[in-house]
Amino acid sequence: MRYTRQMSLPTLLAVGAALMTAIVAARYFVVSGVLAMLTLRLHPAVGPVAGKRPAQVRHEILWSLASAAIYGVPAGIVGALWHERGATLIYDGAPHGVLGWLALPVSALAFLFAHDTWFYWSHRWMHRPAVFARVHAVHHQSRPPTAWAAMSFHWTEALTGAVIVPLLVFVIPIHVAALMAVLAIMTWNGVTNHMGWEIYPRSWVAGAWGRVLITASHHHLHHRHYRCNYGLYFRFWDQVCGTDRGWAAELLASPDAVHSSARN
Ligand SMILES: [Zn+2]
Ligand SMILES: [Zn+2]
Repeated sequence: MRYTRQMSLPTLLAVGAALMTAIVAARYFVVSGVLAMLTLRLHPAVGPVAGKRPAQVRHEILWSLASAAIYGVPAGIVGALWHERGATLIYDGAPHGVLGWLALPVSALAFLFAHDTWFYWSHRWMHRPAVFARVHAVHHQSRPPTAWAAMSFHWTEALTGAVIVPLLVFVIPIHVAALMAVLAIMTWNGVTNHMGWEIYPRSWVAGAWGRVLITASHHHLHHRHYRCNYGLYFRFWDQVCGTDRGWAAELLASPDAVHSSARN
């Protein structure tokens, strides 16, 4: 369906919200589904024990679908306002000159860093005992998580994640292509960080890449020890605040060790 300028504002926003919810849910099923299948094929011993797996995956999918609507509604409303009414600082068209091209990675990095900062501090807050029990325990019921846990959040936690990008597009100018790249990185990290195995070569994770960026080896330790490795994309805040405990070493070695260590 194509929006039309004849639509009333409430209809326009409702169509945007419904379309974006469907897109987020479809994206989740495709990316998590493909990587969950890859996990079963390449590392069948990784993840919850066989008897526990169906119930855990059901839990992860149900909460993720609720999150799809919570992410989809504000994103769809803002997307419709941008597309039909020119609201937001999102722009398109061919970049002009060196600065125009440079703005693409710079704005994408600014979005990722702002999101990472918001995620780190809200995540730490959600580990306060009273908040954890009501809000964040849903995400940590995945022990160890699977690729389906990418959006497995209690609806209140999903709300905290859903508002950040729709707010940032009113603050930081960004080309639509750079915004698509940000959304792709967000999706990719959400899934790969929960797979229970490392998709990047050991030399990358143990090298400059892994010293700066968060991958499964880093986030897996958060799901085991809880009070460390809170970040999303970058290790920056964990390193600055002394909450970085490095990697789950076995993810860089034998994936089967993850399975047995998680059961103990
Ligand atoms: Zn997680
Ligand atoms: Zn947590």
